[in-house]
Amino acid sequence: MLRLDIVTLFPAMVEAPLEESIIGRARRRGLVDIRVVNLRDYAVGTHRITDDYQFGGGGGMVLKPEPLFAAVEAVRTPGARVILLDPRGAAFTQEVAGRLAGLPHLILIAGRYEGVDERVRERLADESLSIGDYVLTGGELPALVVADAVTRLVAGVLGGEGAAEHESFASGLLEPPQYTRPEEFRGARVPAVLLSGDHARIARWRRVQALWRTWRSRPDLLPRAGLSAEEWELVERFERGERPEEPDAPADQERNDGHGRDSVG
Ligand code: SAM
Repeated sequence: MLRLDIVTLFPAMVEAPLEESIIGRARRRGLVDIRVVNLRDYAVGTHRITDDYQFGGGGGMVLKPEPLFAAVEAVRTPGARVILLDPRGAAFTQEVAGRLAGLPHLILIAGRYEGVDERVRERLADESLSIGDYVLTGGELPALVVADAVTRLVAGVLGGEGAAEHESFASGLLEPPQYTRPEEFRGARVPAVLLSGDHARIARWRRVQALWRTWRSRPDLLPRAGLSAEEWELVERFERGERPEEPDAPADQERNDGHGRDSVG
């Protein structure tokens, strides 16, 4: 079972989302043990101070090392990995989520204000992770992002609700379009191939759509997606202005993206 502790000055910010839906159910079923650690409980003195001014000047407060070390040391088990959420950290990706899901215990440290004392990063954290190139007010939302992405990869958590191996990034490509009933909604029909019952054709359609979507939105993913020679040829055809047989883009995107109208796939 994966254990995950979130160390934060604002426990209420993370508690409610962890009660709901798939993550809440995984906790209740004992598939993951997620605990919220109140940093304030590990601060000493009458005022239980957790932050202080920066040495050397500069605006803003920094989280002090003593309460953070005390909180982590109180919950750390052998084999635990301590992760600092930090916009300067390495990018948190699906691959990283997969690696973390295989560990027994994660301790996520949510920073606040101008961040944490550098000694926390150097001497307490095993790694630092960023959820994207933007700055949030604190590490609570990033910690929830990591907790959510990792928990859903733990065996048994998703149940029948979708196999993680078919999702975006798992194959190296973005996921193809998905539809449910009704077959026609406001004039927009579900692509006929999905109703055909021909599994080989459906699989091929999905692969082409995944390739098309990835090429259009995230071409940076293609070199590492393990494409076949035939699939690279398809990418070249997209580059020449051809497009998949059954459009998946909303009308306004179609108008703006400037790609041609010949069809492939
Ligand atoms: N002064 C820091 C800097 O410029 O890199 C930003 C500190 S931010 C306002 C406060 C805290 O929010 C950080 O210590 C971190 O825990 C969290 N945080 C903000 N943006 C983040 C991101 N993109 N990824 C991970 N954590 C983030």
